[in-house]
Amino acid sequence: RRKWKRVVRVLEELEEACETPVGRLRQVVDAMAVEMHAGLASEGGSKLKMLLTFVDHLPTGSEIGTYYALDLGGTNFRVLRIQLGGRRSSILSQDVERQPIPQHLMTSTSEDLFDFIASTLKQFVEKEESGSEPSPVRTRELGFTFSFPVKQSSLRSGILIKWTKGFAIEDMVGKEVVELLEAALVRSGLDMRVALLVNDTVGTLALGRYHDADTVAAVIIGTGTNACYLERADAIIKCQGLLTTSGYMVVNMEWGNFWSSHLPRTSYDIDLDSESPNPNDQGFEKMISGMYLGDIVRRVILRISLESDIFGPVSSRLSIPFILQTPLLAAMHEDDSPELKEVAKILKETLEISEVSLKVRKLVVRICDVVTCRAARLAAAGIVGILKKIGRDGSGAGGTGGRNRSDVKMKRTVVAIEGGLYTSYTMFRKYLHEALNEILGDVAQHVILQVTEDGSGIGGALLAASYSSYS
Ligand code: ADP
Repeated sequence: RRKWKRVVRVLEELEEACETPVGRLRQVVDAMAVEMHAGLASEGGSKLKMLLTFVDHLPTGSEIGTYYALDLGGTNFRVLRIQLGGRRSSILSQDVERQPIPQHLMTSTSEDLFDFIASTLKQFVEKEESGSEPSPVRTRELGFTFSFPVKQSSLRSGILIKWTKGFAIEDMVGKEVVELLEAALVRSGLDMRVALLVNDTVGTLALGRYHDADTVAAVIIGTGTNACYLERADAIIKCQGLLTTSGYMVVNMEWGNFWSSHLPRTSYDIDLDSESPNPNDQGFEKMISGMYLGDIVRRVILRISLESDIFGPVSSRLSIPFILQTPLLAAMHEDDSPELKEVAKILKETLEISEVSLKVRKLVVRICDVVTCRAARLAAAGIVGILKKIGRDGSGAGGTGGRNRSDVKMKRTVVAIEGGLYTSYTMFRKYLHEALNEILGDVAQHVILQVTEDGSGIGGALLAASYSSYS
């Protein structure tokens, strides 16, 4: 019995430390908006980098013709070709080819990597164009989605700040990314112009806008998390005299690095962070995204296992970082069998913990619930933070003098959203929406989260069209 008492205490501590009542979420909303301001005010003014993208207009639907995209952001890269019909949401055809990046190229030289990419692209173009009309005498145009931190100085130029996600090509850090690609295209003999360099969130925003003109922001919640939105150019104080055609520019927040003392942090978060390769970095991401949620749960189970015998002898598996992946956490959380069979199976097969009672399995589900609920609610607060910054949260930036909210004509606001955590994890999505409703109240009915698919690729091609030198 004493053992259970300890277990209950660990669980209660976890629940308390992860609590996200709406008051606390509002503090996170405010902190997000404040940090956004700070990141726009000066270089290094906030943990939010608020990177300029130089994208000052988004697809309208009138784009027409054939465009390419190259999407490099992880262990796979994709090449894409789309044909646009000149009306909103009229993508006439779309072809994609996905290629894993050979392991050795991820740590080789930039020349090796880009030669490989260029030759794949060339083969793709030749395959797609064979049998069709000889291409008209105009250069092919490509949007290059490159989802690593880049400091851009124009639409088509930017230097790699650092590698993430297992890449380590030393010679490339600090180099102009587009120049490297273009040099490889020339070497391969492929006639193609790189129209612009984009971050994957910007691709998502472009695709969202192509389908719906009220789209103003984009969020990705997958392995990692990030967001971008459309900002007024004159609010980007750190860049005086910014010339834009529209008066707006898309800002890549790099929100995974957001931090605030209002975030509900546990000892498990602190340990996860200090044992990570990037301590003190990506604090928001480490509480929210798919890469980490499973590992937070693993750490809680390990702690309980060390303090009690309810999981039997301490399994050595519990000490292996990242062994419990987030899709497994989701499967346990969403196990609706009365005996919690899925929980038993995953505990046994992944963590080598067998024969635990139903009561213990229920405890595991509860842990998954607490960790996921916090993540989803914080993500919701982040989204409302963006809405607040752009005056779409209903708090009356226009100053209606405390009149009834319903008197204020609210604009319809669409946020494009992607990523496996949001699209494949039902409970995560449900908690996120619940929190949005709690924070926004009546205003929530004007805010639409719209799932887009493949924004990083298709959005890149749409932006190439939007910035085509022929249009
Ligand atoms: P990425 O972010 O790696 O580019 P995705 O947006 O598809 O790709 O997200 C994949 C991530 O989403 C996985 O790493 C995983 O953490 C999470 N994920 C995928 N499927 C599920 C699921 N069924 N339940 C919970 N999380 C999932």
